[in-house]
Order: sequence, then structure tokens, then C-alpha cells
Amino acid sequence: MDKKALKPLFDYAGGYNGHESVTVNRHLKVENGLAGQDILSVAQFDRPMLAYVFERAREMREMVGRVGGTDLLTGRVLACLFYEPSTRTSASFIAAMERLGGGVIPITQGVQFSSVSKGETLPDTVRTLEQYSDVIVLRHPEIGSAQVAADYASVPVINAGDGPGEHPTQALLDLFTIQEELGQIEGLKIAMVGDLRYGRTVHSLTKLLLQYDVSLRFVSPEILRLPLTIMNEVIDAGVNARETHDVADVIENADVLYVTRVQKERFSDLAQYEEVKDHYEITPEIMARAKQKMVVMHPLPRVGEIHYAVDSDPRAAYFRQVRNGMYIRMALLAAVLGKA
Ligand code: ASP
Repeated sequence: MDKKALKPLFDYAGGYNGHESVTVNRHLKVENGLAGQDILSVAQFDRPMLAYVFERAREMREMVGRVGGTDLLTGRVLACLFYEPSTRTSASFIAAMERLGGGVIPITQGVQFSSVSKGETLPDTVRTLEQYSDVIVLRHPEIGSAQVAADYASVPVINAGDGPGEHPTQALLDLFTIQEELGQIEGLKIAMVGDLRYGRTVHSLTKLLLQYDVSLRFVSPEILRLPLTIMNEVIDAGVNARETHDVADVIENADVLYVTRVQKERFSDLAQYEEVKDHYEITPEIMARAKQKMVVMHPLPRVGEIHYAVDSDPRAAYFRQVRNGMYIRMALLAAVLGKA
């Protein structure tokens, strides 16, 4: 099957026949450009495409709130192939597929129990899974692995994190959360805090934000600064950006404080990890200096970067962010499978 030739199952007709319908915004200018496509990088998403995905995510939220689920993807199967640990990404893709009426092959906890442990290669594994499924979600420790899988698979491949490379669906849900929490993206001051070197969610979100008129602040220990390649993209885009080691430099002006975990699994020298692992902790005392209207976000899991006492602060958006992940992934699965 030629991925690029995959056509929508049903015509674009403002919902679909005879079932609990997802209200379709007929005024959206962008048709579904994702049908049959892989989702490998945020570079695929321009502003009209983002507006399309966000509008569909809102429809999904409305539908879930009203009836819980639908049968939009009945008869379709998602293969979830995770070579690295995951809670939110795997669970939200599974929940998304099930709420849309589809089925799931979950290879998320036990790649060690699959033939991967017998030495099967990624190309062979995806060429096997595509025999059973219509879309593959892949998380893998190596940069570029999603591209390799996409080169071999005839069904769409969605990158759920390729090592320290990208995590495009997380960046979409992060951007969506900013939009929904603050009502805008343009003009915001966004501070990324923590492991900017290995944090793939930071890499993807930063690239997406370059499409907007925002100010970026990068807060990290010296050894965890944003990779030069991405910093060069930031500079080329002409976005107002600064680096610092200190949260105190950004807390008073930030509209978004995007906090991240130090990615222990990416360090070859664990002594180096020990040196930086407790560098930041967002506490109620720090939050007392922040604006009244702002949000604290985190892709999770957190391992000490945000004190639990911050959770009851209405500005703590990280669990609302988690829920948005399901709506965004519902929108993406529907779009990729041609249900525009
Ligand atoms: N869950 C995110 C990821 O998979 C963030 C993290 O693991 O720290 O990249």
C-alpha cells in the first residue's frame, strides 16, 4: 500500500453516517493534509495544519465530555511499539484509539517478551506489525529510528520519541495546552527549564514555537544547554532568545514555565548526572514571584523538579496537559487514518 495514496475512508461531510458524530468545523480552511502520512517531526506542521489539529482536538474533547467515545475508527487497529518506558504517551494513544472505537496491539511493557529480544531488527518488526495494523506508534532510543521505521512500513508511522531527537505529538499537546490555558501563543514569554540538551520534548516544542512571535528563555546547567543545531534554528528564525542558569532570572516575566526532568538514561557518565540532577526545584516560594496569569507545565514524569506543594496552585497545568494529550492523539489518529 502506498502511504501517500491512502485516501480518507469517508468523504468530508461534517461528521459521519449514523453514529455519534464528531462535529466538524466547516469553516476550517485546511483540509486534512495528514491522511496516510507519517508523523515524524514537528517540521511537518505549519500554522494552518496546527489550527486544523487543534480544532479537531477541541471537537474530540467536546465529544468525550458528552458521550465518552465514538466509533469513528471501528475496524482500524493501532500497533503501539515501545522500546523505551512510557506511561502517558502509550496510555494516551491506547485511550485515544479505544475512544475512537478502534483496536490496539500494545507492545508497550514487554518488548523484551517480543521477538526483539531474539534479535529481530526494527525493519522486520514494523513489516510484521503492519500486517495486522493500520498505523504504528513507535518509541525507540535512537535518533532517526522513526524515519527508519517509516521507510520500511507501508502504513503511517507516528514518532512517539526517538531518543533525544524529537517527540512531535508531545510538542503538539504542549502547544495546544498553552493555547487553551492562556488563550494565545503570540506574544508570550516562554521559559524552558532543566535538561535542554537531551530533552526531546524541549527540542520539538522549541522548533514549533519558532512559527510564532514569542520570547524564549532557556534555563539549564551549563552541560545541559540547548544543542547548538537547535539554537542556530532559533537564531535564524529571529526569535528573541536568551540563555541563563538561573530560574530567578525568568520567573517574574514568564507566561509559561516549561519544566523538564534531567534525562538520566541519556548520560554515559552517571557521576555527571548526579552533579546536575537536583539543579532545579520549583517551589511555592518561587511561584510566589511568578505572574498571577501564567502556567507551569511539565511533560512528566517529574522526579523532583516541581515540589508537590505546587500541584494545588491553579497555575500548575501539568495534569491538564496530560489530558490534552489524549485529545490531540485522537485528532492525529483520526487525521492520519483519513477521517477528516
Ligand atoms: N515523557 C517525556 C518523554 O518521553 C519526558 C521525559 O521522559 O522526561 O520525552
